Formats: sequence, structure tokens, C-alpha cells
Amino acid sequence: MSEINNQAKLLQATWLAPNNIKAYVTTCKDDFNLALHVNDNEAKVLINRAKLKESLPNTPLWLNQTHSIDVVDWTNIKYDVVNADASISTKSKDVCIVMTADCLPILLSNKTGDFVAAIHAGWRGLDNGIISETIKKLSGYNPNEMVAFIGPAICQKCFEVGKEVLDSFSSKNPSDRQFFMESENHNKYLCNLRKIAEQRLFEAGLKIENISNKNICTKCNTSWFFSYRSSCSTGRFATLIWKE
Ligand SMILES: [Zn+2]
Repeated sequence: MSEINNQAKLLQATWLAPNNIKAYVTTCKDDFNLALHVNDNEAKVLINRAKLKESLPNTPLWLNQTHSIDVVDWTNIKYDVVNADASISTKSKDVCIVMTADCLPILLSNKTGDFVAAIHAGWRGLDNGIISETIKKLSGYNPNEMVAFIGPAICQKCFEVGKEVLDSFSSKNPSDRQFFMESENHNKYLCNLRKIAEQRLFEAGLKIENISNKNICTKCNTSWFFSYRSSCSTGRFATLIWKE
């Protein structure tokens, strides 16, 4: 990823989407928090959001993320804040956006740039099927032709979880055990969210070579990204996408 806009701190996503698809990741530089729900100064967050908007064709379609598997399709509805963890649109200049600080930000489009989708996937969302729910909503498009971007998120080494997380995944998908390593701490495991997401995308029909899985850890790179595991009292960066 490369920095292109200093004021809004945008990094351009590098992936296999065609040129009419624009996709960016913000950073934590200059305390560029974009979340209103993290006890930050509201006026400051709104200034950051206004700065971000200057680089975009429209006001982003912010979600109230709740670790659900709810997906909203903005194509034919008027924007209002809704509870959802993924959004899609086929309309030009609709800016789909998710906020994260360790969870996975995932973007989708296809080789012909017909639609955009942004997904917020923490372990609960992944486990409950947020990826397959989003792809189900895109039923008019062939997953074989889809491209995906998995952005900065916590790495396996940094993401220690209890056995209940391993049990929850492996009760649905026994082969998911391969994405957990025993931690040096008793009854704890290191979970590779990034690889689980890649597997779910593959199972939904995407070709592995069309999935750009960026190995950038939020907790290992706190000078670039917010990380909840690094500090509970932290901001959120955004991953966003639109079609021209
Ligand atoms: Zn890490």
C-alpha cells in the first residue's frame, strides 16, 4: 500500500480490482480517529471525517457495527445509519466503509468492477458467516470473477484467544483447527483470522489468486494503525471503497 493523500492519510489498497474501483485504508497518523463510539472528542472526530470526505466523491455510508452478520445493500435505499457489519452497492460513488482496530476489513468487487462491498469481520462475525452472507447478497455476480482485499488486522502471533473460540469455529468447520496454534499460556490459542477469512472466501467460490491478503498486523504496527489489543482506549481507522 502506498500513501497518496497526506491530509486524510489515505493508503491505496493494492489488489486485483479494475481501475474504476477505488479502495483506500486510513491510518492512525495525527490521531486520525474516525469512530464516534470510542469516547473520543466528538468535534475532533467530525473534523477528521470532514477531512476524509474531501478526498471522496461522497459522504461515506457509515455503519453502526455490532459484530453481527447483517448486510445492507445501499443500491436502492436512501442512506440512514443502520446496524450492520457489511454493506454493498452497485451505484456509482456510493462509498462503502468499515471501521476497525484489529478486526478484519475486507473489500470485494469483481473483475469488471460492477459492485463494491465492505465487510467488518471480527472473530464472531467470521464465525457466524458475515462473509457468506455478504456474498449471498451479491447473488447476481459470479464469485469466480470476484476479487477480494483483506486489509490490516491483528496477526496470529498477536491474537490470543480462549478455547471457546477454537471450539466455536471447529464445531462448524472441523478443519478450522489448522488456523489455531497452541499458545505458551495454558488453554490459550493463537488464532489466524486472516487465513480463516481467506478460507471462507474460497469456500464461497472466490479463486485464491484473486484474494489479496495483506500481511499487515495492526498490533505490530501501532505507529500506522489503531489496535484495540494494544490499547482498549483507541480509535478506529477506516477501509473504504467506491466505484467511479
Ligand atoms: Zn502482530
